Amino acid sequence: SDHSLAYPAQPGEMNWGTIFPRFFDAKTGASRGKGVVEFADVGCGFGGLLMQLAPLFPETLMLGLEIRVHVTQYVHDKIVALRLAAQQGRLESAPAEPVPEDQTSTPQPAAEEVEGEEADEAAQNAQLVSSAHLTPGSYDNVGVLRANGMKFLPNFFTKGQLSKLFFLFPDPHFKSRKHKARIISPTLLAEYAYVLRPGGIVYIITDVRELYDWMDKHLGEHPLFRRLVKDEGVLKGDLCVEAVYGATEEGKKVERNRGDKWFSAFERVDDPAED
Ligand code: SAM
Repeated sequence: SDHSLAYPAQPGEMNWGTIFPRFFDAKTGASRGKGVVEFADVGCGFGGLLMQLAPLFPETLMLGLEIRVHVTQYVHDKIVALRLAAQQGRLESAPAEPVPEDQTSTPQPAAEEVEGEEADEAAQNAQLVSSAHLTPGSYDNVGVLRANGMKFLPNFFTKGQLSKLFFLFPDPHFKSRKHKARIISPTLLAEYAYVLRPGGIVYIITDVRELYDWMDKHLGEHPLFRRLVKDEGVLKGDLCVEAVYGATEEGKKVERNRGDKWFSAFERVDDPAED
């Protein structure tokens, strides 16, 4: 539960150096002047989106927020392995001589950590990520944090710090008494608008039609968000859109099951003029 989650009282107290040592001093947390976290993937799961985006935006810091302990650990281990592989030049040589599936350095979640269906899912996902992420890149700009993305975003990020927020295949919480547990709600949208800069983009995608209608409706009705049209305007040529559809483990699963995917993106508009 939440009281076992460590979170800073305010963003200035967060030591990002433990997550991004190339960008902040690991001991003091002092910035090396190379920017702040700008992309946040809320409920990042096994991290497929981040691993795909990291080499595409090498100067941009991106963070996954994930509430499940073993999943967060898995993503952490994956990032460590990718950074090491990059340092040793193994990622660059990977396309020429593919690494056999059973010899990749990708850490697999320990079998005893997860059970039953979840273990199957974890094993399947581990296989997916191990084959999919051999893109050259340093992976210094990607990190993961165990956190409740529905509660503490303003503890981690200052007003307008983020340029992109991702909510990809979130848990549906079907029953109406559980709707308040949904990751998009009118109250939470005010928080997301706070951490997102004007011009910043929220991406949502799901295979659950009812959840899509709910998220799309609430975002569409919110005064601080403006609907974007796919393949038009700022979304035209946006590398994130393709990644949102296909890079995550859940997105791949939906593809395997030939399910539908519903997508929307919204831009954070300027704050209304204060008088
Ligand atoms: N986005 C990933 C993907 O597309 O593969 C994962 C999708 S999975 C269905 C939803 C994830 O959100 C789970 O890993 C779950 O643990 C996480 N999650 C649920 N509620 C959360 C919260 N309040 N804060 C952070 N993560 C959360």
